[in-house]
Amino acid sequence: MGCWRSRGPWRLLMIFGALPACMNPMDAHSVLSRSPALRAAAERARFTSPDQCWRGWHVAHRFACSNGHTFLAPPAQLLAGRLRCIRCDMQARLDTLHALARSAGVICTSRSWQGDGALYDFLCSAGHRWQRRGRHVKRGAACPTCARERERKRKLLANGLQLLQRAARSHGGQIVRAGSRKRGRYQKAGTVTA
Ligand SMILES: [Zn+2]
Ligand SMILES: [Zn+2]
Repeated sequence: MGCWRSRGPWRLLMIFGALPACMNPMDAHSVLSRSPALRAAAERARFTSPDQCWRGWHVAHRFACSNGHTFLAPPAQLLAGRLRCIRCDMQARLDTLHALARSAGVICTSRSWQGDGALYDFLCSAGHRWQRRGRHVKRGAACPTCARERERKRKLLANGLQLLQRAARSHGGQIVRAGSRKRGRYQKAGTVTA
């Protein structure tokens, strides 16, 4: 600032972008060298800027995250601690989805994050495939077919137990539960269990 191009008609040209300040090598500098606070904010966020030309706090500059993604954003956003790498954020969301699937014993086969409302593909160890919206995976990522199968078996077992009890009663006996809930024992009425 204060150079001959910051005055008069040159200043107007710079404002309209016809003559960027970095045209003069004397004015070229790293964006992050603009202020110690900006550099500190960049170090905290692990961002760099490949731009050498300062165009203003509220003008988009190029930034790069620690994973090499580049994006445009105003330095004021970085200074305020509000600048995030969208691609890293999307990858983190996808990683969370995959972790939720793993904790439910299934696999998420989708390879990109498309938003909370998008459908994602899942696969269970029995080979069932299904889709679930991102926002619903937090409530549970278990396989719906396997869940239905388990429920069907549970009902069959309960029904089988009722049949056994009926058969036992018709012979003057009863089913006595021993050990776990699912294990029953046929016992003649009046006898004492060990
Ligand atoms: Zn990134
Ligand atoms: Zn399944």
